[in-house]
Amino acid sequence: MKKTLSSLFVLFLILAVFAACRGDEPALSSSPGDVSPMGSEPRTEPLPDHATVEYGEPDLIADNIGPLWAYVRYPQAGDATDYLIARWADEMYQDAFDEIQALRETDASAEGEINIQFNSYLVDDRYASVLERGVFIASGMERPRHIVRAFNIDTKSGLMLDNANILDPAKQARALALLREKILEAYPGADRVVDGLDDMDDSWLTHIAIGHEGIIVLPAPDADRPPGYEELTVTLPYDELGSAFWLGEEQTTTATSVLSVSAAAPFVPLWDDVDPTLPMVALTFDDGPSQHTDQILDLLETHGGRATFFVIGNLVERRQDTVRRAFDMGCEILGHSWDHRNLTKLTRQEIETGILDTRDVIESITGPGPQLYRPPYGAVSETLKEVSRDLGFALVLWSVDPRDWQTRNADLIVPAIMNNAKDRAIILSHDLYGPTADAMTRVIPELRARGYQLVTVSELLYYADIDPEAGHVYYKGN
Ligand code: ZN
Repeated sequence: MKKTLSSLFVLFLILAVFAACRGDEPALSSSPGDVSPMGSEPRTEPLPDHATVEYGEPDLIADNIGPLWAYVRYPQAGDATDYLIARWADEMYQDAFDEIQALRETDASAEGEINIQFNSYLVDDRYASVLERGVFIASGMERPRHIVRAFNIDTKSGLMLDNANILDPAKQARALALLREKILEAYPGADRVVDGLDDMDDSWLTHIAIGHEGIIVLPAPDADRPPGYEELTVTLPYDELGSAFWLGEEQTTTATSVLSVSAAAPFVPLWDDVDPTLPMVALTFDDGPSQHTDQILDLLETHGGRATFFVIGNLVERRQDTVRRAFDMGCEILGHSWDHRNLTKLTRQEIETGILDTRDVIESITGPGPQLYRPPYGAVSETLKEVSRDLGFALVLWSVDPRDWQTRNADLIVPAIMNNAKDRAIILSHDLYGPTADAMTRVIPELRARGYQLVTVSELLYYADIDPEAGHVYYKGN
């Protein structure tokens, strides 16, 4: 315990230096009456006096009761960058939380603190930079771990800028030489105590921001640096960078969309067993994965074919094996929102989160996939299409609806599909229901007997020469 407190004392010394005085007592000595749990009204403390906030309004993740004391500040600008920045902040908090939980398995008194602050700049009314920095410390750690992250955004195009969009990679040596010079100016003698200053590589330029006077550089934190050098900060003036700084000239060709973190690559079929001249349909199953999904996979395996599963994000984790099996069979796994809320009734931010969190949990199993999803209830609004377009997602509905969710009767579901199935149809069903899975014991062999190839939605669109366009709605493959 003594060690913990002395470590925390170091933490607060460092906090005092870089985050300025917050005018309150350290969280660890707060009295019990001072606490408020996560989720209730957090203490709203002002940002440090010297914080620059030119882009976004400060938002906060706070925990005043521990065992992880948290104070994580990040900006929300009401635009497409919000999700990405808020998710980063949440990840930092969650990682710290998990680390403390792990420590407490062996030491019930383990505790810690995470404190992150930010500065944000808006240059030329167009380029926004967010510089997040902070510390995490936990029981048993000799020194705090430094946290640094820079976000650079071209607010005009809505693109997130890579470092190569800001500094010419071909002139990196010049930028590094200037960086070394500025570090030595600001921290005389740094070359004697900081490892690697005489042999700098591009990792020194990982965290850069577009400032008003020049590029602000936070060389990546290094645990082995001596106190006072953990977090070097220098500015490389634009006039001294010369042509090594090329923002506004070459950058937009490679900059990635703020939200399409994994930009959609053109779809390429993995299987060469489809004959585009023969009839095909896409069977699609919504609202799973469920206990009935494997029954449908068995049928596809037996009779030959693939399907598309539009899954509910919050159901994926507990049926990872089913999802993995479907994917390995060549089926397509796409999102159907996180919790089946009607997306047309949600805010833009909630829509983004619903689509992207679902995409993330699917991709944790399948890797990056097509940027397609199906909104719950097939409900679509102009706002939903707009947000989808901004996110880089196309929407998939259907051309055949057997209303299996309503009848829940295999004897009615089978003819409802078979009487309406035609070449290039997208057929809606729900693997959530036993009767639907039972209906498939007849539907799948019958479709095969009639000569239909059972393909995924992406394959159906591909063989129809349709390259799905973000924000557009697709009903069938012709
Ligand atoms: Zn649904």
